[in-house]
Amino acid sequence: MIERIFENNKKWVSEKLAIDEDYFSKLSEGQHPEFLYIGCSDSRVTAEEMMGLHPGEVFIHRNIANMVNSVDLSVMAVINYAVRHLKVNHIVVCGHYYCGGIKAAMQPADLGILNPWLRNIRDVYRLHKEELNNITDEDKRYNRLIELNVQEQCINLIKTAAIQQAYKERGIMVHGWVFDVHSGELIDLKIDFKKELETIMEIYRLE
Ligand SMILES: [Zn+2]
Repeated sequence: MIERIFENNKKWVSEKLAIDEDYFSKLSEGQHPEFLYIGCSDSRVTAEEMMGLHPGEVFIHRNIANMVNSVDLSVMAVINYAVRHLKVNHIVVCGHYYCGGIKAAMQPADLGILNPWLRNIRDVYRLHKEELNNITDEDKRYNRLIELNVQEQCINLIKTAAIQQAYKERGIMVHGWVFDVHSGELIDLKIDFKKELETIMEIYRLE
Protein backbone atom coordinates (compact mmCIF):
# COMPACT_ATOMS: atom_id res chain seq x y z
CA MET A 1 0.00 0.00 0.00
CA ILE A 2 2.67 2.51 1.06
CA GLU A 3 4.98 1.40 -1.78
CA ARG A 4 2.18 2.05 -4.23
CA ILE A 5 2.05 5.69 -3.11
CA PHE A 6 5.74 6.26 -3.91
CA GLU A 7 5.30 4.56 -7.28
CA ASN A 8 2.29 6.81 -7.97
CA ASN A 9 4.38 9.83 -7.05
CA LYS A 10 7.17 8.90 -9.51
CA LYS A 11 4.57 8.44 -12.24
CA TRP A 12 2.94 11.78 -11.42
CA VAL A 13 6.30 13.61 -11.53
CA SER A 14 7.14 12.18 -14.95
CA GLU A 15 3.65 12.97 -16.27
CA LYS A 16 3.96 16.59 -15.18
CA LEU A 17 7.48 16.93 -16.61
CA ALA A 18 6.40 15.41 -19.92
CA ILE A 19 3.91 18.28 -20.35
CA ASP A 20 6.15 21.02 -18.96
CA GLU A 21 9.77 20.37 -18.05
CA ASP A 22 9.81 23.49 -15.83
CA TYR A 23 6.65 22.53 -13.96
CA PHE A 24 8.26 22.05 -10.55
CA SER A 25 10.78 24.84 -10.84
CA LYS A 26 7.85 27.20 -11.56
CA LEU A 27 5.98 25.84 -8.52
CA SER A 28 8.99 26.45 -6.33
CA GLU A 29 8.99 30.16 -7.22
CA GLY A 30 6.02 30.83 -4.91
CA GLN A 31 2.25 30.74 -4.62
CA HIS A 32 -0.42 33.27 -5.54
CA PRO A 33 -3.69 31.40 -4.95
CA GLU A 34 -6.95 33.21 -5.66
CA PHE A 35 -8.93 30.99 -3.27
CA LEU A 36 -8.89 29.87 0.34
CA TYR A 37 -10.88 26.64 0.74
CA ILE A 38 -12.11 25.48 4.15
CA GLY A 39 -13.59 22.00 3.92
CA CYS A 40 -14.19 18.76 5.81
CA SER A 41 -11.42 16.22 6.43
CA ASP A 42 -13.67 13.50 4.97
CA SER A 43 -11.61 11.31 2.59
CA ARG A 44 -14.36 11.39 -0.06
CA VAL A 45 -14.32 15.17 -0.39
CA THR A 46 -11.22 16.26 -2.23
CA ALA A 47 -10.56 19.92 -2.74
CA GLU A 48 -8.52 20.53 -5.93
CA GLU A 49 -9.84 17.49 -7.77
CA MET A 50 -13.54 18.28 -7.50
CA MET A 51 -12.92 21.95 -8.35
CA GLY A 52 -10.66 21.13 -11.29
CA LEU A 53 -7.87 23.26 -9.84
CA HIS A 54 -4.13 22.63 -9.88
CA PRO A 55 -1.27 22.98 -7.38
CA GLY A 56 -0.74 26.66 -6.59
CA GLU A 57 -4.36 27.68 -7.20
CA VAL A 58 -6.02 27.09 -3.83
CA PHE A 59 -4.91 27.43 -0.21
CA ILE A 60 -6.54 24.69 1.84
CA HIS A 61 -7.65 24.03 5.39
CA ARG A 62 -9.62 20.94 6.36
CA ASN A 63 -11.05 19.82 9.68
CA ILE A 64 -13.98 17.77 10.94
CA ALA A 65 -17.20 19.33 9.58
CA ASN A 66 -15.47 22.40 8.05
CA MET A 67 -15.63 24.53 11.19
CA VAL A 68 -14.40 28.12 11.60
CA ASN A 69 -13.91 28.40 15.34
CA SER A 70 -12.45 31.63 16.72
CA VAL A 71 -10.36 29.83 19.37
CA ASP A 72 -8.94 27.26 16.92
CA LEU A 73 -5.44 28.61 16.36
CA SER A 74 -4.94 26.41 13.30
CA VAL A 75 -7.88 27.67 11.23
CA MET A 76 -7.36 31.26 12.42
CA ALA A 77 -3.68 31.20 11.40
CA VAL A 78 -4.63 29.83 7.97
CA ILE A 79 -7.26 32.56 7.46
CA ASN A 80 -4.91 35.28 8.60
CA TYR A 81 -2.07 34.12 6.35
CA ALA A 82 -4.31 33.58 3.31
CA VAL A 83 -6.11 36.92 3.62
CA ARG A 84 -3.36 39.24 4.83
CA HIS A 85 -0.28 37.77 3.15
CA LEU A 86 -1.36 35.69 0.16
CA LYS A 87 -4.18 38.18 -0.49
CA VAL A 88 -6.75 35.64 -1.68
CA ASN A 89 -9.90 37.24 -3.09
CA HIS A 90 -12.36 34.41 -2.46
CA ILE A 91 -12.94 32.26 0.60
CA VAL A 92 -15.01 29.12 0.31
CA VAL A 93 -16.56 27.15 3.16
CA CYS A 94 -17.49 23.80 1.65
CA GLY A 95 -19.63 21.34 3.59
CA HIS A 96 -20.86 18.03 2.24
CA TYR A 97 -23.91 15.81 2.47
CA TYR A 98 -23.34 12.54 4.41
CA CYS A 99 -20.97 14.38 6.80
CA GLY A 100 -20.07 12.10 9.71
CA GLY A 101 -19.20 15.07 11.95
CA ILE A 102 -22.65 16.59 11.54
CA LYS A 103 -24.30 13.19 12.01
CA ALA A 104 -22.36 12.62 15.25
CA ALA A 105 -23.47 16.03 16.56
CA MET A 106 -27.10 15.07 15.96
CA GLN A 107 -26.82 12.01 18.19
CA PRO A 108 -26.57 11.92 21.98
CA ALA A 109 -23.24 10.29 22.79
CA ASP A 110 -20.07 11.00 24.79
CA LEU A 111 -17.32 11.09 22.17
CA GLY A 112 -14.48 12.29 24.39
CA ILE A 113 -12.23 14.91 22.78
CA LEU A 114 -14.79 15.29 19.99
CA ASN A 115 -17.36 16.67 22.47
CA PRO A 116 -16.12 20.29 22.48
CA TRP A 117 -15.62 20.19 18.71
CA LEU A 118 -19.09 18.84 17.99
CA ARG A 119 -20.62 21.26 20.49
CA ASN A 120 -20.08 24.04 17.95
CA ILE A 121 -22.31 22.12 15.53
CA ARG A 122 -24.91 21.65 18.27
CA ASP A 123 -24.81 25.44 18.73
CA VAL A 124 -25.70 25.80 15.04
CA TYR A 125 -28.63 23.43 15.66
CA ARG A 126 -29.75 25.52 18.63
CA LEU A 127 -29.61 28.74 16.58
CA HIS A 128 -31.88 27.17 13.95
CA LYS A 129 -33.86 24.84 16.22
CA GLU A 130 -37.26 26.00 15.07
CA GLU A 131 -36.60 25.45 11.38
CA LEU A 132 -34.82 22.14 11.94
CA ASN A 133 -37.36 20.67 14.35
CA ASN A 134 -40.10 21.41 11.82
CA ILE A 135 -38.44 19.08 9.28
CA THR A 136 -39.97 15.67 10.02
CA ASP A 137 -37.86 13.65 7.56
CA GLU A 138 -34.61 12.85 9.38
CA ASP A 139 -32.43 12.78 6.24
CA LYS A 140 -33.78 16.16 5.13
CA ARG A 141 -33.16 17.61 8.59
CA TYR A 142 -29.60 16.23 8.49
CA ASN A 143 -28.98 17.80 5.06
CA ARG A 144 -30.42 21.12 6.19
CA LEU A 145 -28.15 21.20 9.25
CA ILE A 146 -25.19 20.63 6.91
CA GLU A 147 -26.26 23.68 4.86
CA LEU A 148 -26.95 25.84 7.92
CA ASN A 149 -23.57 24.87 9.37
CA VAL A 150 -21.86 26.14 6.19
CA GLN A 151 -23.85 29.37 6.50
CA GLU A 152 -22.83 29.84 10.15
CA GLN A 153 -19.16 29.15 9.41
CA CYS A 154 -19.31 31.81 6.66
CA ILE A 155 -20.68 34.20 9.28
CA ASN A 156 -17.83 33.22 11.61
CA LEU A 157 -15.42 34.20 8.83
CA ILE A 158 -17.04 37.63 8.53
CA LYS A 159 -16.55 38.12 12.27
CA THR A 160 -12.76 38.19 11.83
CA ALA A 161 -10.87 41.48 11.57
CA ALA A 162 -8.79 40.17 8.64
CA ILE A 163 -11.87 39.62 6.49
CA GLN A 164 -13.65 42.82 7.51
CA GLN A 165 -10.54 44.76 6.55
CA ALA A 166 -9.99 42.87 3.27
CA TYR A 167 -13.61 43.45 2.32
CA LYS A 168 -13.20 47.18 2.80
CA GLU A 169 -9.88 47.28 0.94
CA ARG A 170 -10.45 44.96 -2.00
CA GLY A 171 -13.96 43.48 -1.77
CA ILE A 172 -13.00 39.96 -0.69
CA MET A 173 -15.92 37.50 -1.08
CA VAL A 174 -17.05 34.61 1.12
CA HIS A 175 -18.91 31.70 -0.49
CA GLY A 176 -20.87 28.81 1.04
CA TRP A 177 -20.94 25.56 -0.93
CA VAL A 178 -22.04 21.98 -0.36
CA PHE A 179 -20.57 18.95 -2.10
CA ASP A 180 -23.04 16.14 -2.74
CA VAL A 181 -21.10 12.90 -2.22
CA HIS A 182 -23.97 10.95 -3.82
CA SER A 183 -23.85 12.79 -7.18
CA GLY A 184 -20.43 14.46 -7.18
CA GLU A 185 -22.15 17.79 -7.69
CA LEU A 186 -20.91 21.03 -6.12
CA ILE A 187 -23.81 23.24 -5.01
CA ASP A 188 -23.55 27.00 -4.38
CA LEU A 189 -25.78 27.90 -1.41
CA LYS A 190 -25.80 31.46 -2.78
CA ILE A 191 -25.30 33.08 0.61
CA ASP A 192 -25.91 36.82 0.32
CA PHE A 193 -22.51 37.84 1.68
CA LYS A 194 -23.17 41.58 1.57
CA LYS A 195 -26.46 41.22 3.42
CA GLU A 196 -24.94 38.92 6.07
CA LEU A 197 -22.08 41.34 6.52
CA GLU A 198 -24.40 44.31 7.05
CA THR A 199 -26.56 42.32 9.50
CA ILE A 200 -23.71 41.16 11.73
CA MET A 201 -21.53 44.27 11.65
CA GLU A 202 -23.74 45.98 14.23
CA ILE A 203 -22.35 43.56 16.82
CA TYR A 204 -19.12 42.21 15.33
CA ARG A 205 -17.46 45.26 13.78
CA LEU A 206 -13.73 45.16 14.58
CA GLU A 207 -12.28 48.00 12.58
ZN1 LIG B 1 -17.63 15.76 6.85
